[in-house]
Amino acid sequence: MPEQVNKNSSYLNATSTTKTETRVKDVSPTSGACPICIRECPFLCEVSLAAFRGREALYPEPERFGYSTAGALKDFGLDWSHFNIHSGLLGAEGIEADSDVAIFPNVSVETTIGGVPLKMPLLIGAYGSTEVGRLNWDGLAIGGALSGIIVTIGENVCGMDPESKITKGKVVYSKELKRRIDAFRKFWDGKYGDVAVQTNVEDQRLGVDVYALSKLGINIIERKWGQGAKAIGGEVRIRDLQKAILLKKRGYIVIPDPEDKNVQEAFKEGVFRSFERHSRVGMPAEKGFIEDIEWLRQQGSKIVSLKTGAYRPEAVAFTMKVASEAKIDYVTFDGASGGTGMSPVPMMNEMSIPTVYLEIQVLRCAEILKKKGKYVPDIVMAGGFINETQMYKSIAMSNFGNGPYVKAVLMGRAPLTAVMKSSYFVELARKGQLPRDFADRFGSAPEKFFISVPDLKAEFGEKFKEIPWEAIGLYSYLSERIKVGLQQMMTGSRKWKLNYLSRRDLFSLTERAARASGIPLVEESAADAIERILG
Ligand code: SF4
Repeated sequence: MPEQVNKNSSYLNATSTTKTETRVKDVSPTSGACPICIRECPFLCEVSLAAFRGREALYPEPERFGYSTAGALKDFGLDWSHFNIHSGLLGAEGIEADSDVAIFPNVSVETTIGGVPLKMPLLIGAYGSTEVGRLNWDGLAIGGALSGIIVTIGENVCGMDPESKITKGKVVYSKELKRRIDAFRKFWDGKYGDVAVQTNVEDQRLGVDVYALSKLGINIIERKWGQGAKAIGGEVRIRDLQKAILLKKRGYIVIPDPEDKNVQEAFKEGVFRSFERHSRVGMPAEKGFIEDIEWLRQQGSKIVSLKTGAYRPEAVAFTMKVASEAKIDYVTFDGASGGTGMSPVPMMNEMSIPTVYLEIQVLRCAEILKKKGKYVPDIVMAGGFINETQMYKSIAMSNFGNGPYVKAVLMGRAPLTAVMKSSYFVELARKGQLPRDFADRFGSAPEKFFISVPDLKAEFGEKFKEIPWEAIGLYSYLSERIKVGLQQMMTGSRKWKLNYLSRRDLFSLTERAARASGIPLVEESAADAIERILG
């Protein structure tokens, strides 16, 4: 263990997230500070950055806001890599045990979440008013629609839209929300996946749910209680004084006060370059929540979901209890280590329950509800997912014998990475500035370096030209890499349908993983199986 403690301490006073570094590498394991701190040090460590920039030092590089995503970097001592997947030799589940039929392209990774069919067990989002979501929307929405998954529009989109029309405190028009929904629907097949609208405290006050249901024909409304990256409401940066004033007038918490003359002067002089816009935290209560969900259904919401963060065990149990009573269609639990546009770095690293531990708690609740004969909503896990092996393990861990509780995982940052990278490399290709190694390996034109182009051209014909390259990048990542990778992993364990993935397909690699999850260590699992066959 000492090795791990040292590994964690290195970010205390220097982290790439805040672009800080220490003068020497052998820092104190307790403070992260250099053992000798000198006056003539030219480096900016966490303490010294804060001496100049105060609250800005809490955040991922503020100047990169809108063009980056940020997440935690702490080693939480338990993650999906601490489990491995058993491979199988005998038989086939979910398909005929015939070597000519039981091939990996025949694995079905389709599922349903809250009754919505998905081509793969994945949702992406929620991308709200944060600038990186707005700027990359077409790639996210269209790539998601092409992949047959749910894409969730996050909080505060209407409230942040300068062109929103608000009458008597309620939104009656939002160009930005409409743009986002339209982009998804343009390439939606009307069957697989859908676009969901998330609502937080401010959205509910503005009546975003009613507007999205009655004017924009949305099927899924999501209530938001929190996220894994931070246990306070959503935050964004505002680089425009007039917009900061508008948002304050609309009821948002804007820091510093954009209506204060001294603040305005400091902003104009460049002392600081952006305002922070914060959302309020919700105050959920059992009765009010159940009534709210009934009301939402009366307003026309066909599917109602709930997104919550990585709160303490009591809160997880409360969430499962009320979600069960309110018959919520699906609940997304977002574990610590996630992040998107702007979360305080110390909060991402030091607060809330990491994803694997969180799923273990959620599963305990689900089992108790099930044993009592209560309704158990479909579960979606989020928080640091980027690939199919984590997806496999999360779903498999949740099947105690009656089918998986976890029906899908949700990704936030990784799809943005795929979209941003596609956008940047297409721009470089246009300028003839692609990295030489990349151009040598994959070609210098987008038609060549995006491998999915021939398939999508065949499927969409003339309409192919309307698909942005960013969406093709996301589609390639999700449908070509993750989906195919999942099919391969499942074939390796002889499972041709997601419902067959179970806890018996996993083994723990560390004692902590085994203790926390109840998934046996490989040596325990081997002893049991060998006794059973030969004993
Ligand atoms: S200011 Fe002090 S603690 Fe920070 S990097 Fe320099 S020497 Fe190290």
